[in-house]
Formats: sequence, C-alpha cells, structure tokens
Amino acid sequence: MVKSIVVLGCTGSVGRSTMAVLRENRERFRLLGLAAGDNTRLLEQQIAEFAPPAVSVKGEKAARELRERFPRLHVLHGAAGLEELVSLPGCDCVVAAINGTDGMAAAFQAIRLKRRLCLANKETLVAAGELICREAAAYGTEIVPIDSEQSAIFQCLQGPSRHVHRVILTASGGPFFKNSELDLATITVKEALAHPTWSMGRKITIDSATLMNKALEIIETRHLFHLQPEQIDVVIHPQSVVHSLVEFIDASVLAQLAVPDMRLPILYSLTHPERVAGACPRLDLPALQRLDFFAVDPRRFPSIPLAYSVLRQGQNAGAVFNTANEVAVDYFLSGRIGFTAIFSVVERMLERMEPRTLRSLEDVLETIAVTRRRTIAHIEKEVSQ
Ligand code: MG
Repeated sequence: MVKSIVVLGCTGSVGRSTMAVLRENRERFRLLGLAAGDNTRLLEQQIAEFAPPAVSVKGEKAARELRERFPRLHVLHGAAGLEELVSLPGCDCVVAAINGTDGMAAAFQAIRLKRRLCLANKETLVAAGELICREAAAYGTEIVPIDSEQSAIFQCLQGPSRHVHRVILTASGGPFFKNSELDLATITVKEALAHPTWSMGRKITIDSATLMNKALEIIETRHLFHLQPEQIDVVIHPQSVVHSLVEFIDASVLAQLAVPDMRLPILYSLTHPERVAGACPRLDLPALQRLDFFAVDPRRFPSIPLAYSVLRQGQNAGAVFNTANEVAVDYFLSGRIGFTAIFSVVERMLERMEPRTLRSLEDVLETIAVTRRRTIAHIEKEVSQ
C-alpha cells in the first residue's frame, strides 16, 4: 500500500533526510504536503522535484509569491496552514520535524485525526509529553520516534514492556567530552558548533555539546515508553554506532546498531512494522574495530542531573526546562553569554518556576511564554556580558 506523507519542517536537517527517503522510495510513498520556515529557495526546489498538491509557509507574503510561481499549488501559511496540511484527506503519516514548539498544535491535530506521528521534534514531548501521550492513547494514534536513540529503543522494544529493566541512551558526548581538562566556561560558539559525528542544525548541535540534547531525550524517553526515571540511563559512546540499548529483567541487553544516518530511523518510522531496504550504508564491524563507552560526569555536564530533577517535578517542569534552554542557547549563539551559563540559567529558571498542571495546549503555550519572558529578563539583568 502506498502511504501518503506530510512533512512539517522539510528544509531542516531531518526534513532534507526525509526528502531523500521519499526520493529513494517513490513506489512506497506519496508526498501530500510540505511545510517550511524561511528557506523558501529549497522549498521551491522540493516543489519542482516532488510536485506535492499542497504546501505551507510561515508568512503571508511568502505564500503569495509561491502562488504566483506555482499557480496550481494549494499554498497555506502560518500555524493554521500546518493544521490544514495534517488534516488533508488521505494523509497516513505526518513527519514532525519543525524546530522548537512551533509545530505543537499541528502535532495535536495529527493525533486527533489518527495520522501516524513520526516525531523528530523532541521539544513537543519535553514540553507537553503527558498531555500528548494521553491524547495519543485516547485516539489510538501511533507515535513513532525518529530521534535515532528513541528509534533504537522502539526497535528493541517489540516484546512486552513489563520485561524491561532499564533503557540505556547513548550520547556521542559532543566535541568537549574527550578533553576532561578543558575549562567549559572558555568555549567559543565556533568550537561548540563543530560536532564530531552528526551534522545537524545549530540549536541541536549546541544541545549536543552541553548534553542538553541527551537531557531532553531522557524526558522524551520517559513519555514515549512510559518508564520510571530510574529506568533511564545514559552512556557516552563517541562512535554513535550503537544508537541505544534496552536491558531486560533477566539481564539480557538488546542494542540497535547502524551507521549514523538519519535516513534509517526516518524510513523505519514510516514503514514500521515492516523493514525495507534503504540507501543507508551497511555497518562494517571489522573496519570499526572498536566501540567505546564511558560514564557521564554530572559535575561537568549538569544537564543530565537537571533532566532527572525535571522528571521528579513533573507538571510544567519540562516546558520550563525546554524553554529556558532554548532562550539560553540563543544568547550563547549570539555571543552574549558563555557556554556554562546555559547550565546556570536553566537551573535558575527551574528553581524559580511555579509548578502547575498542564491540562491543555493553551496551558503549555502559556508556560512557554511566561518562561521565555522570565528567562530573557534574568539573562539581561544578571548574566549577559
Ligand atoms: Mg538523538
């Protein structure tokens, strides 16, 4: 059966890999709609190549220009455009790969309409995990993770979950893990943007260097697989070949291994429970020779203990954590705060937060807006250089 796909965030790193998967599997997938942010040049190339019936862009002006260039194309814009795309009749799968929390309302809409949600955007689950999983259970909608670690766990977890003892998330460690003498406070933006194994967008590359990415994944993992905080561990694995592991109650461990290539988890999220041959290169174990594993030092990378404190707090702590980190990373990228200030800003915002239960998407968005305002005020007043 040919599946109809909508891709939200088609010009980003995961979006481009998704388009490669669609290009390599034209007989399996039909592209129903694309949504892009500011990169309309790449979007136009994708429209010319794939001829989707509908697209959505950020602003009205960009939408008008696209209508002139492609008169037969159905062009939408803004948050409503995203929701309309996922509502298109016949849509089977939505690849949610928009950065940050902009695609959150569309993700909720996809769940209510029972579209399989192929989720690359971890912020949605970190900010609104309980709510989104409750909705998915109520509507019987599948959420299949694209994030390589969560995909690995998903692939290892095809048996009864009562047999799971713990999951072990692997982390590349980012560019600074190896040099334990390095003073993290002195790190420049350029150094932080040089990731050893994955080539990704700027925000997630900084999140990898701070291990905030792994902290977000700890929270994502808890929601996706309904685990207790003590059932989630992290290990540094610089080669990024073992994408994550699951340990069962009998001490047996299953791992998913593959060459680091996002096309594999994307393709699997679309075809699950089937597996199909893709363009991902095959693993050559003798060429690799070795796979290394190290413990995380929580004093150097306070992001990891912070994630567990977010899990213990629950309620809106995930939304506060994610938002404070997004704001702090913006300030770091523009050179206005140092690398380790990202940790102290997020920690301070968690200390100052007011706990509340998130009952609706509006509650989540309000926590995000309040936290954004407070984090900016805190940085401007006390941290900014
Ligand atoms: Mg990941």
